[in-house]
Amino acid sequence: MPTKDYTEFLHNIKQEYITNSYVVNDTFVFELELPVKEHTCPQCHHTTKRIKDYRIRTVKFGMIQCGTLIGKYRQRRYCCTHCGHAFSEQNPFVRKYMQISITNLALLFNKLNESITYTSIAHTCNVSITTVLRYCSMIHIPKPNILPPVIGIDEFKGNAEGQQYQVNLTNPDTHEILDILPKRDTHALLRYFASFKRSVRLAVKYIVMDMSLQFKRIMQALFPHAHIVCDRYHVCRLVDWAVERVRKREQNKIFSYSRMLKQNKRILMKRPESLTDTESIKLCELFRVSPDLKRAYTLKLVFRDIFKTYGKEQITRHLKHWLQLVKTSGLNEFNNFLHSFSAWMPQITNAFLLPYSNGYTEGSNNKIKVLKRISYGLRHFGRFRVRILLLSKKMAPTT
Ligand SMILES: [Zn+2]
Repeated sequence: MPTKDYTEFLHNIKQEYITNSYVVNDTFVFELELPVKEHTCPQCHHTTKRIKDYRIRTVKFGMIQCGTLIGKYRQRRYCCTHCGHAFSEQNPFVRKYMQISITNLALLFNKLNESITYTSIAHTCNVSITTVLRYCSMIHIPKPNILPPVIGIDEFKGNAEGQQYQVNLTNPDTHEILDILPKRDTHALLRYFASFKRSVRLAVKYIVMDMSLQFKRIMQALFPHAHIVCDRYHVCRLVDWAVERVRKREQNKIFSYSRMLKQNKRILMKRPESLTDTESIKLCELFRVSPDLKRAYTLKLVFRDIFKTYGKEQITRHLKHWLQLVKTSGLNEFNNFLHSFSAWMPQITNAFLLPYSNGYTEGSNNKIKVLKRISYGLRHFGRFRVRILLLSKKMAPTT
């Protein structure tokens, strides 16, 4: 044959099985029957060719081009000549008690790995949404047994099963989601992490997280050998927010320039080296209007210089120096750093000393948000978790 038989390739249907084919309203129908073949009785293992009867089964092969493919399979039943047991013939397209073909089922499971809605999967496979949900519920992905040397932990708003926040546990090295936890509360987290063997927990070297006191306490209790690393982007964002708070205060205070202070918000967030000439002029103008804003901006720049600092002692010294500047600046918006940065000094030092961050974790949170937005069925936590983990395995560069 000059061309490959794609019906066989795609659906396991050989040409000789098709006894008739026709089209009804966008549905392609194949009438299927297998040739008579010697079968082994499942009860007594004698062979038989005696036919008992036939049964018509409707098999859904899914979407093809603009229509669906349906098989009207005339399934033969054989009768054992030795023990009288009746049994169905073996066939390559559909399993016992199922309506969906083997190839279509494989497609359905494959589609669950993609960031698409249940509705569109149901459409592609020509089954109901309930069927897709049922198959998705069948997938079981166990909790990992081991943990990598570096783990990232972060929360996200998932609204699954009455819990507002879920926890995302990742491997920042391999860019993989390790697990999704249903709840953020301390008890649930303690129970989850305590379920890992002590030897597994002791092998964890670094844990990357936001400045969350709750996470810090839990991790310090259960991972005594791990160094906690603050996410450096999170730390920088906190400083950015403080600048923004000063800008807002000034915007409300200085009426005559409030519009200007509002409109040039973005300039303050930009890196000074990437400012255009016009933007630099506007920045000077802002500083002329509000000396407090200038002070806040300078604090931010000094803080950012930490990226140019190397070595543990230098970084700690830089942070302490910066806190000193905060104290003398008199800007109330920065006061929170005096307490929090002092309490988190070793972890923040790690953030700039070590190459680990939660960049991947936060990126995966965004992918989760996309999946949440497109699927209405994500309120069911089990399925939600399975789909996120499938999606992450697919995204991992190792596969
Ligand atoms: Zn038998």
